[in-house]
Amino acid sequence: MSVPRYWREIPYRIRLEAKKCKLCNYVNYPPRSKCLKCGSTEFEKYILPKRGKLLSFSIIRNPPIGFDKKTPYVIGLVELEDGTRLITQITDIDINELKIGMEVEQVFRKITEDGDSGIIQYGVKFRPKNM
Ligand SMILES: [Zn+2]
Repeated sequence: MSVPRYWREIPYRIRLEAKKCKLCNYVNYPPRSKCLKCGSTEFEKYILPKRGKLLSFSIIRNPPIGFDKKTPYVIGLVELEDGTRLITQITDIDINELKIGMEVEQVFRKITEDGDSGIIQYGVKFRPKNM
């Protein structure tokens, strides 16, 4: 990923910033230039909730080159408290303890390290909510 694109994406990578459609109220995440539901281009800024539930997950044992070197790792589908769903990495968990429906919360972590450019990318992941 290029440096300019990385910086441009920072607001939604680190704060889970979405765009809420002014016409139909659909929350577009990642942000788009047109509403996925109605095609409107009128939005207001919207910060997604920090907590949600794990709806499904898969365990990745052979990651793409440059992606997290620690394997296996977990990619999950999370439904946030407001109903928004997103695909995210689940971290800080023993894979044997993964459960559908478990509560998760947002954390800020390193996502990839680009060996050639030396860019380390940070972003949002989710971990089991403190019990
Ligand atoms: Zn809309």
